[in-house]
Amino acid sequence: MLTSEPPLEQAELIRSLPETPTPETQAALAEYRERLRQALRDPSLRAIEGCPIGDDEAIEQLSDPPYYTACPNPFLTEILSQWQTDRAELRRELGLPDDAHATGNGHNGNGLYHREPFAADVSEGKNDPIYNAHSYHTKVPHKAIMRYILHYTDPGDVVLDGFCGTGMTGVAAQLCGNKKAVEGLGYRVDKTGVIYDGDKPISRLGARKAVLVDLSPAATFIAYNYNTPIDVRTFEREAKRILKEVETECGWMYETLHTDGKTKGRISYTVWSEMFVCPQCGGEITFMDEALDATSKRVKEKFPCPHCGASLDKRSLDRDYITAYDRITGQSIKTLKRRPVLI
Ligand SMILES: [Zn+2]
Repeated sequence: MLTSEPPLEQAELIRSLPETPTPETQAALAEYRERLRQALRDPSLRAIEGCPIGDDEAIEQLSDPPYYTACPNPFLTEILSQWQTDRAELRRELGLPDDAHATGNGHNGNGLYHREPFAADVSEGKNDPIYNAHSYHTKVPHKAIMRYILHYTDPGDVVLDGFCGTGMTGVAAQLCGNKKAVEGLGYRVDKTGVIYDGDKPISRLGARKAVLVDLSPAATFIAYNYNTPIDVRTFEREAKRILKEVETECGWMYETLHTDGKTKGRISYTVWSEMFVCPQCGGEITFMDEALDATSKRVKEKFPCPHCGASLDKRSLDRDYITAYDRITGQSIKTLKRRPVLI
């Protein structure tokens, strides 16, 4: 479970933190870590359905308490209580009505809260760099989510996503406090932070808080990384170090000899062709070489066998299989034969 960090002030999602945290911050973080350790020993936490089966140490190592824990978050109540206090203060600052004690008046017992249903069509592309930083099934672009959050909430409100995946709801909640991101949706923001759709005021500029939950620890781990500020310099240094290490270890796998037989080149991609057998003469046929029409880039209806000249089409060919022994499963596996035809 993850709770989003303080609001973003910059256009960038990632911003720099001080290189070294103060001793007070370090002590506070160490205390949270100790409390997480205690909580993991409590059988009632382990009994919560969906609690990962990983051992205490693994869960601790993945976690960054209090905001991110790779298990049900034992700090949620205190975080939410702090957020309620912050919210009340923010509402006073923004001149929004105090709704903490209001009850009744026909709006689901929530006192003053009321919004018309959000009825616009929402369509957002999938080419935003933030969206593409990490792929994930059923991912929703954060810009699409922002429109709903702006419509239904005020700054400081808490949004719950119980099926958060990689945490785009958290990204959206934070970016509601980013003027440039909000204007990017086609809205106008005035000096006082009121957001307009055309002439109609629809919301206020300001980050919302997000509580993100997912059964998958992999998902919440990605969500945590999407939503937590990092030290950009340290990140860049570490990323370059890892890339260099991978290059040294695996770079040779991506090398090939040029046609001169001497010069080494880096492989961008390799095209593989399926292999078939001629039903007439039993000769091996590289499908791409024989059947592909180089001009039209389509498979020819008929083509001659390069060995016996028989007229062939794709349906008449026999598949060429190879059998290999899999050392891990201890079984022989039969697969289609393929050959690289373009490097
Ligand atoms: Zn043949």
